[in-house]
Amino acid sequence: MKDNTMIIAIDGPAAAGKGTLARRLASELGFDYLDTGLIYRAVGMKLAHAGHDPSDVIAAERAARTLSPADLEAPDLRQDEAAQAASKVAVIPGVRAALLEFQRNFASHPPGAKGAVLDGRDIGTVVCPAADVKLFVTASLEKRAERRLKELQEKGLEAIHSTVLADMRERDERDRNRSVAPLVPADGAVVLDTSDLDADQAFAWTLAHIRSK
Ligand code: C5P
Repeated sequence: MKDNTMIIAIDGPAAAGKGTLARRLASELGFDYLDTGLIYRAVGMKLAHAGHDPSDVIAAERAARTLSPADLEAPDLRQDEAAQAASKVAVIPGVRAALLEFQRNFASHPPGAKGAVLDGRDIGTVVCPAADVKLFVTASLEKRAERRLKELQEKGLEAIHSTVLADMRERDERDRNRSVAPLVPADGAVVLDTSDLDADQAFAWTLAHIRSK
């Protein structure tokens, strides 16, 4: 059930600009924002910290079912190790099922009650198929790898272009080819290719699109 709140669903591959866009939209519209990738990262790292392999189905499902707010505060969730671990636990149907209700509940009852912006890989297809606005934000692999490299370097982390590109390609393939909730544009989603757009242009275009609805 979706009360009177507006739901904006944003999906797409890594580093296409959806997180920046989602955050800015939420702030502009006074909506609450949920970064669903962070939840998968937290499950992946919870397993890693407990010494389990991310493909250990039983341990992964347990980690997803017992995820706590403190797990979402772990300091290493933004690192590439967490991204890879997230995409491995994300192929496990029981993990996705355990996380679904929390995401749906946030979308239909956001804390501020006005509306919700969720970003991820399956928001428009699985989590909120009845969302008021569905966007699929993408960009070429080369552009996305360049952006991620710049981001890592700005944080003072050492990164090599070819490694960033290979990791991103591997994660994209896993996300696109998994059997549950694969990364695809949802029915009715508008595709926004940000390869040649900066963050301001992507934001302006999307806001105009939302206001036209
Ligand atoms: O968005 P982010 O890069 O933080 O997501 C990390 C990983 O979590 C993705 O590569 C994907 O495997 C998984 N994920 C997912 N479904 C979501 C959000 C993230 O499968 N809704």
